[in-house]
Parts: sequence; structure tokens; C-alpha cells
Amino acid sequence: MSGEPLKEYDYRNCQSLFGYAAAVHERSGGICQLCGAGSAKLDFDLWRQLTVEHLIGESQGGYLKQISTALAQRFPNLSTGELSDLARRIDGANTITACSFCNSTTSRNRVPIDMGEAIHQTPDGSPDEIYEHVTADLRHILAAKRRDVRWKLAGVRKAYESIVVPRLMDRRALPPLDSPG
Ligand SMILES: [Zn+2]
Repeated sequence: MSGEPLKEYDYRNCQSLFGYAAAVHERSGGICQLCGAGSAKLDFDLWRQLTVEHLIGESQGGYLKQISTALAQRFPNLSTGELSDLARRIDGANTITACSFCNSTTSRNRVPIDMGEAIHQTPDGSPDEIYEHVTADLRHILAAKRRDVRWKLAGVRKAYESIVVPRLMDRRALPPLDSPG
């Protein structure tokens, strides 16, 4: 051991929590938008498990760059500024905070509509009207994901209480393994 103090870790390297992700977590109040975990109180050990989930994922055209391309194709009459503003707003509506459980149990599900389709099916209108039309589809996807999570959590909670807790309590009653820290 040298006497030099360790340089403080740069938190911005945690990309699931800072940078692009920080705005998503701030919008959601640090609450999983699928199961509601984190709503009772702010807790560091839960907060650091939060992830950004795209309601429509990259494989279905849901990333910002893909949204921008689809909007420019569908609405060539909008100005560059209107297009980029609209793309950012739709991207904001397409990104939610999910806890690691919800993210891992839902993020690979394909959703019924591609972002490109949603945008191409949107009638001509003002940027606000276009936003409302596209995000109506996103609200349906969010509601379906919430139902899916509720169903899965009910089964997982039952197993946790009947099977997992007794085993974990038995383990904890034994002499400890080398503990972290
Ligand atoms: Zn969750």
C-alpha cells in the first residue's frame, strides 16, 4: 500500500445512471415505470439497479437516430428544427426507467408495432398532433408491459415467499462466507 489516496471514481462512467440515462431517471422520479419499485422512498441500493428501457427497442426502430430518419421521410415539409425537436420528444416518450427485474423480463419482447410503422401511419398535422398520435401507440405498449410485469411478479413473489426465503434464511443462519467490504 502506498500512502497516496485513491483518486475518486468518476461517477459519469456509470452509463446506466448518468449521461443520457440521468434525464430518463429524473423524468421518472427514480421509480420503475413498469412495477413501481422505488416509489416508497429513495434508496441507493435500489436506485443503482435502475436501467433505461426503450418501449420500442432498436430492433424495431425505436432509437433516436431511427426515429429522426423515419420522421424526415414521413414529414419532409417540417423544418429541420421541428424534426429534431419532435424526434427528441418522441425519444423521451419511448424511454422509461425500469428496474433490472422488469428490464430483463420485458425488454426482449417484441411489441406489436415498429416505430417506423407508427410514424408512417401518422396523418399530416402539426408537430404536437404528430407527437400525440405516435405516443398514443407508446401508451398502449406501456400498459401491456405493465400487465405482463404484474403477472410475472405475482408468480415470482409466491416462489420467493414459499421457496426462496426459507433457503436464504437457512444460509444466513450459518457462519458467514467472506463478506464484501
Ligand atoms: Zn420494475
